[in-house]
Amino acid sequence: MSELLQQVADPSDPAAPPGALLGARTAGDYSALLHEVVDRLADRFRTINAPSSGMDRAALEELVAAVPLGERSIGARAALLEADELYAAHAVWFHHPSYLAHLNCPVAVPAVAAEAMLAAINTSVDTYDQSLVGTLMEQRLIGWTADRLGLAGGDGVFTSGGTQSNLQALFIARERALRADPRPRLEAAADLRVLTTGASHFSIARSALLLGLGEQAVVPVAADASGRMDPAALREALDRLAAEGRTPMAVVATAGTTDRGLIDPLPAIAEACAPCGTWLHVDAAYGGGLMLSARRRHLLEGIDRADSVTVDFHKTFFQPVSSSAVIVRRPADLAATAWHADYLNPAAEAASADAEPNQVDKSLQTTRRFDALKLWTTLRALGADRLGEMVDEVCDLAAAVHDLLAQDRDFTVLGRTDLSTVLFRFQPPHVADGTADAHVALIRRILFQSGRAMVARTVVDGRPWLKLTLLNPEATLADVAAVLDLVRATGRGLLAGADLAAEGGRR
Ligand SMILES: *Cc1c(COP(=O)(O)O)cnc(C)c1O
Repeated sequence: MSELLQQVADPSDPAAPPGALLGARTAGDYSALLHEVVDRLADRFRTINAPSSGMDRAALEELVAAVPLGERSIGARAALLEADELYAAHAVWFHHPSYLAHLNCPVAVPAVAAEAMLAAINTSVDTYDQSLVGTLMEQRLIGWTADRLGLAGGDGVFTSGGTQSNLQALFIARERALRADPRPRLEAAADLRVLTTGASHFSIARSALLLGLGEQAVVPVAADASGRMDPAALREALDRLAAEGRTPMAVVATAGTTDRGLIDPLPAIAEACAPCGTWLHVDAAYGGGLMLSARRRHLLEGIDRADSVTVDFHKTFFQPVSSSAVIVRRPADLAATAWHADYLNPAAEAASADAEPNQVDKSLQTTRRFDALKLWTTLRALGADRLGEMVDEVCDLAAAVHDLLAQDRDFTVLGRTDLSTVLFRFQPPHVADGTADAHVALIRRILFQSGRAMVARTVVDGRPWLKLTLLNPEATLADVAAVLDLVRATGRGLLAGADLAAEGGRR
């Protein structure tokens, strides 16, 4: 017996029944439970025939409210069975070929298995002493990503998503701009400006707000007729800021806009940033996957001139949520993020030659998931080239869907994407703009409520459009055409209903 314990009673009782926490005594229960959960899910994947159950919100609210949460205990098996019948039965299934709405992807099998692994071990990649090899694996993967972007020698960190990656990149840009300004922070901050187009992700404008920049901080740069940033307009905007004595804190280019999948002209934008050394952030949350494509890698030309890049692995790398990274060209720029706590990563130790590699020094998060393991296993299992082919397959599908819509008189299709979205509207020749516009949201809602197919909607240049986001390399043109037929049938139904109503009015 321990010397210390000889004089006191030990409150922990080794004879107590196995608990709920994962450890030596529960390892068998853990294995049995996970096998059962996985087998049930596998059955669902085999048999699911629509992206959702189509159950309406009132019924779902009732199901959720009916669970006596936290009252009596029902045991792990029953709890998971209940979750299967509540959550899995009424979830949205992104792998279904009729799910064509948002930027959600079907996920790579090895990544899903890795997710189970990292959840069980529960590594936190904040300090080295909580993660050991996990930190080294994440760092290796960040290095690999930087290399692929043409930013060899760069650094970065995994984040929860593009939103956080963009925030951190702009935070670093803000710190650099403020440090170069001799005035007090608040005074200097009032003059900071971020230049981007109206098509950039909303997290850019919200980051400016979170970073305490002024209301005028985000300067819109005009797009050209194609919808991409106009480099001449950017140069003019930069000249105007210089004349006004403002500080261009960052230019944000988008490599794959969320709505249209358009890539801003990166080489010309980098050229415009160069003379004044303006920070160039490239938001490649959506388009990042192109870095692995043999046929479309050239679309990211110029990204190697960025100061920072956002990449969402949970979009075009087929990773489970969450998995994203922010990459910076100069590792020293990440120092703006570092903060030292005596209990975690003391400053004195960080300065020493053999300092432990603490990723928390580079992250806005403290406790942080080891999401890197998912991409790691995916790259090992499938190889980067296969992932790149999968990106090409969804881009090819988008092009084929575009052609299909363009030759169909019932539909109008907008522009061409660099990636995999298709914007269109049901508008047969005799139908007025106002009617077609009004039907966009209705068609989306009717399909959504049916559970049979999901499409999105958005607004471009003041007009509403239906939107398909194609991220499923296994969906075929026939799958998408079947959804378009549903859109057509729904649109015709709405037109017939409107005709009936008009007739009723005349009678
Ligand atoms: C999806 C997206 C984001 C946001 O990423 P999250 O992972 O959803 O936080 C940012 N920028 C672009 C261009 C996106 O498409």
